Amino acid sequence: MKALRFENNQLKLADILKPRNESEAVVRVLQSGICNTDLEIARGYAGFSGTIGHEFVGIVEAAADAPQLIGKRVVGEINAGCGKCEQCRQNDARHCPARTVLGIVGRDGAHAEFLTLPARNLLEVPDSVSDEQAVFVEPLAAAFGITEQVEIVSETGVAVIGDGKLGNLCAQSLALKSRHVVLVGKHKEKLALVEARHIETVLLENALKLNRSFDVVVEASGSESGFNLALDLLKPRGKLVLKSTFHGAAKWQAWRVVVDEITIVGSRCGRFQPALDLLKNNSVDVESLISEQLSLREGVKAIKRAKQKGVMKVLLSMER
Ligand SMILES: [Zn+2]
Ligand SMILES: [Zn+2]
Repeated sequence: MKALRFENNQLKLADILKPRNESEAVVRVLQSGICNTDLEIARGYAGFSGTIGHEFVGIVEAAADAPQLIGKRVVGEINAGCGKCEQCRQNDARHCPARTVLGIVGRDGAHAEFLTLPARNLLEVPDSVSDEQAVFVEPLAAAFGITEQVEIVSETGVAVIGDGKLGNLCAQSLALKSRHVVLVGKHKEKLALVEARHIETVLLENALKLNRSFDVVVEASGSESGFNLALDLLKPRGKLVLKSTFHGAAKWQAWRVVVDEITIVGSRCGRFQPALDLLKNNSVDVESLISEQLSLREGVKAIKRAKQKGVMKVLLSMER
């Protein structure tokens, strides 16, 4: 089968054996989505080697321990746990110390014709959710997952910094809970996407007018300046949610966190079922984020496209 792989510091479309893993389900991938994490891996981040990609929708081809899933259209939670530790016993592999993560840690990913995951990671996609929408379940789950960690009610003042894919999905998700969500970004055309959903937006250069105005600020820009702006925007005793895996050494003034008694919350993966429900109910719009759809054979080019300015989500389809 074809797979988009990062190996020996090089990204390439490779021909590899179709996976055969009797203890896991085999999924024929229909579409996959390119995430900023894929771009970071392709730059050599985290030393991952193998097939990249973790956002997908596909059809179950084999599942020895879950035959009812065969032929079903599914999405899959990306963390695969040991099944034995305290975290896994509570049915939450997201923090299993021995976990592998689809296309990110120790496990081949989704930019391929086939992938494997434990059957318990798979969720059936309702017919009313299109393939293109279903690919967004993973990033949408990550965005909506903030509400698992931080209480957000209709009066909570929320600012989201970053008008990229993640910031957009965070703003849309949190606007389902709060009436006061503001998305801060640099790009008028990207901000316009959430304005269409009746979410307030502010250009970065005007953001400081909103100094000390928010109970919760979500940093989703992935830049060091975003971190400092977040501290500017927060009210005393506010909550700073760090959503982007910022890999540089951030320079920030720790005393500000102390003096203003800021709570810092790191936030990574969310639950899939609530995200699937949001898509089923058309509570969020993901289709306007799609910039381009390419075939897996054009995978290397697709990664280059995803890096370009102004490009939001690039999808890969596995035409055969
Ligand atoms: Zn991702
Ligand atoms: Zn475990």
